[in-house]
Amino acid sequence: MHLFWHRRDPRTRDNAGLAAATRNERVVPVLPYETDLLGTMGSRQRALYLRHVKALQRRYRELGSDLVVRSGPPSEVLPELADEYDAETVFYNDHYRAARRNRERRAERALAQAGVETDSRTDLLLVDPERLEPSHPNHSQFHNDWEDVPKRPPNDEVSADALAEVSDRKTVPEPDADIDLPEAGYEAARERLDSFLEEGIASYNDTRDDLARAAEAPTAAVSRMSPYISTGAIGIREVWGAATDAYNQARGGERRNVGKYRYELSWREQNYHLLYYNPDLPVSNYKSFPHEIAWRNDEEALEAWKRGETGYPLVDAGMRQLNTEGYIHNRPRQVVASFLTKHLLVDWRAGANYFRKQLLDHDYASNFGNWQWIASTGTDSVDVRIFDPVSQASKYDDDGTFVREYVPELRDVPASKIVDWPTLSNGERERLAPEYPHPIVDRNNGYERAQRVFEEALGKR
Ligand SMILES: Cc1cc2nc3c(=O)[nH]c(=O)nc-3n(C[C@H](O)[C@H](O)[C@H](O)COP(=O)(O)OP(=O)(O)OC[C@H]3O[C@@H](n4cnc5c(N)ncnc54)[C@H](O)[C@@H]3O)c2cc1C
Repeated sequence: MHLFWHRRDPRTRDNAGLAAATRNERVVPVLPYETDLLGTMGSRQRALYLRHVKALQRRYRELGSDLVVRSGPPSEVLPELADEYDAETVFYNDHYRAARRNRERRAERALAQAGVETDSRTDLLLVDPERLEPSHPNHSQFHNDWEDVPKRPPNDEVSADALAEVSDRKTVPEPDADIDLPEAGYEAARERLDSFLEEGIASYNDTRDDLARAAEAPTAAVSRMSPYISTGAIGIREVWGAATDAYNQARGGERRNVGKYRYELSWREQNYHLLYYNPDLPVSNYKSFPHEIAWRNDEEALEAWKRGETGYPLVDAGMRQLNTEGYIHNRPRQVVASFLTKHLLVDWRAGANYFRKQLLDHDYASNFGNWQWIASTGTDSVDVRIFDPVSQASKYDDDGTFVREYVPELRDVPASKIVDWPTLSNGERERLAPEYPHPIVDRNNGYERAQRVFEEALGKR
């Protein structure tokens, strides 16, 4: 008998560790339920993850087995369960965040002392970071190396006769969230992927930044697979395999569109690679600066940003999307992060930690890696990158559809005035939308101040 230790992989299909465990022995699937580890997840994501776990338990029961849930740290729970089921080996999937790897090492030591073997597999990523050089000068270099490594196909669903006939009455709690959650579980994840393959992937490159389309048909412009990928409800090989099939079938311009989707998945892989080789990515600047960055500790500005009340329509629409849906489209995600760290000069860690709490798709690697990139403390080769929130609105939401969807105070304001809101006079703003705030920072002063502060930190002034 073997045990399979479920972690951020609540699925029976395309699960590399589970597939390996069932190859020559019957398997008991187990889940050590750790309240303190789950406490590091935001409450929304935790609620979604626990619903996936319930769906997983139902699936095991349909297959004539069960998910054995025990509360406590894996280093205690796993040796006890190995003893209870007389297991030879505990299988699991590798993780890349330092805290999780430390937990893994503790569990391995405790199991070795109990005479139980362990076997871990690459599952979370298409390419294990150790197969690549520890650092790359830029993303295209990373992508070239990463692209050359062959990718494994998805694993089939585990078969009923490979599972032990166990039954367990314990389960995980099912907390409520403060927002509507998407449907949980593998089936829901696959349905969303199928609808994107049907209606979105063939035009992905052309329309992924079209915010009007994103507001009107959310899963046609982009996939919105991130809440499912980041909680492990669907395997990354399955997503990659489906995109690759679509790529092989596509012709002409469609091929470029589908190719872009596959390319985007490589950003996720690069962020994991970065986290693996730089475990303090979530807390320390990746880049070193000769002088400290003079962040402003402006609580009031930070709170206005969190509420979506900065007087910058695209920033506020993005933040309100985050607050009401637990998701934010990639374009406004970049704009709100740049606005906080550049125009408001608030330390990226404050923004990244707010995202960690609010996002359904929170992922340590992608969140902190992207925040650092946007804050110009990460891997971006440009010294100081500053997104102008007005020109971003004019380029990606020129008819104001996205803003009007999330900022009701501006629903009756003409599109051109929404785009130019931060540059209008106070009198004009009060006449057009008296309920909506004036900008909390001047567009040009904010830009110039950020430029100066970063150049000083870089020793260029
Ligand atoms: C400040 C900031 C914070 C972010 N935090 C997260 C996070 O916590 N979790 C997260 O999954 N993504 C994060 N991203 C990346 C990106 O915004 C989201 O992956 C994307 O918006 C998710 O929507 P989607 O699934 O519709 O994306 P699609 O456009 O459909 O892309 C498909 C998939 O590719 C991957 N992907 C695409 N772009 C990126 C990227 N830049 N970095 C990493 N993966 C990418 C994701 O897995 C995504 O689901 C962040 C980006 C920024 C700028």
